[in-house]
Amino acid sequence: MPDPIRLRFAPSPTGYLHIGSARTALFNWLYARHLAGQGLDASFLLRIEDTDLERSKPELIDVIFNTLEWLGIDWDGEPVLQSSLADEHRGAVARLLGSGAAYRCACTQDEVAARVAASGVPGYDGFCRDRAVSADVAHVVRFRVPDEGLTAFDDLIRGRVSFEHSSLEDFVLQRRDGSPMFVVANAVDDLAMGITHVIRGEDLLNVTPKMLLVRAALGTPQPPVFAHLPLIVGDNRKKLSKRRDDVAIADYQARGILPEAMVNYLALLGWGPSDGVEVRPIREIVELFEAADINPASAMFDVKKLEAINGEYLRALPVDEFVAASEPFLAAAPWAERVDPAVFAALAPDVQLRVRRLDEVPGTVDFVFLAEPEIDEVSWQKVMGADGAAPLLDAAIAAFDGVAAEGHGAWVRDRLHAETLAVAERAGLKLGKAQAPVRVAVTGRTVGPPLFEALEVLGAETVLGRLRAARARL
Ligand code: GLU
Repeated sequence: MPDPIRLRFAPSPTGYLHIGSARTALFNWLYARHLAGQGLDASFLLRIEDTDLERSKPELIDVIFNTLEWLGIDWDGEPVLQSSLADEHRGAVARLLGSGAAYRCACTQDEVAARVAASGVPGYDGFCRDRAVSADVAHVVRFRVPDEGLTAFDDLIRGRVSFEHSSLEDFVLQRRDGSPMFVVANAVDDLAMGITHVIRGEDLLNVTPKMLLVRAALGTPQPPVFAHLPLIVGDNRKKLSKRRDDVAIADYQARGILPEAMVNYLALLGWGPSDGVEVRPIREIVELFEAADINPASAMFDVKKLEAINGEYLRALPVDEFVAASEPFLAAAPWAERVDPAVFAALAPDVQLRVRRLDEVPGTVDFVFLAEPEIDEVSWQKVMGADGAAPLLDAAIAAFDGVAAEGHGAWVRDRLHAETLAVAERAGLKLGKAQAPVRVAVTGRTVGPPLFEALEVLGAETVLGRLRAARARL
């Protein structure tokens, strides 16, 4: 039986889950589930790197759990808190000191900086390497990087990667206050958790040779399998920025991106199926996903594409699920108490075809629930400012009045459609042109759900009232 395969996601709690971190989590999860699907003993673990205790409040950690759950990324076993392994981190530093792989350094930052300035050689110069600094003086602990040779590893995405030791300074393992550095905690935890595959962002590529040196010095020269994921860039081709871009998964959740669409889109950030079918259920992506197929070029985060994919997912929902998913967004509208669920349900199949995000739903149907439509001035100028708007409105009012007079049963979409078509023909216009003033008068805008469905749902009294109000305003 081969050794168990273990992947992990190791976020630091920052209060939100970044798009890039979510993609890292997803790729680890996809690969673990893919390998398990092939009958291998593969699992996906979660480790919270909470050693920065100031910033690691329980509620910040909950954000990670909740967001992963929302995305459908489940983990095996209990999450590991890095802080719970603090003894192991200190023990590892003590062992490295004991074996001579590490040493105490009493230099202050200013002293190091002064020597760098004087010599012109960047980095720490190894001043304390053989000074046998006592444990009683203030000190950091540094790793003794071999002077010669190199540390190399095979990366599933970028092939052979190597770092000359001459390019690495004797890096710090433990701060003056006794707390271990990231590289120690990270290396020790991966060893403790039996991690065999490390998929993480390429921003950590420079840490990897240090991690491997530490592992080897602790007696585990066999490196894990690495895959360093390409950067995610915005449409300006620059790294996503917190100030310019919406970088938190929660931002997209709040706008009504469905978790299935979000996960599908994240999977495409650097990976693509060989058959080119990008929008597909996650279980198919699990089946097809190979870490070796990840593209080394940076991946562009394209909000338009995400929204287009979300639109596909929204259209594919059963209507009742679309209605249920829309509910919180309607409930957040200022006119929420005016929403008639039966009326929304009647319009939902049309609304579903038109929106790409659920937060567009309220603005698509507001005219139905508001006493007066909110008139969009640009739409008004464009349509009502044109010649012929007044006679078209007059003709529509006359025609609809006639329908209303026939009684409730006559006020149906097909009939209203036929009447408007007749108005258009008499005016020598196409239907779209002729119905535009009616649409703006009734809905306030030039775009929206199909007009005649909306007219039927609104009823004769409201429709005629709005048409007359618009006519009066002309
Ligand atoms: N905690 C690190 C981070 O959030 C990731 C460590 C790793 O994946 O090895 O950047």
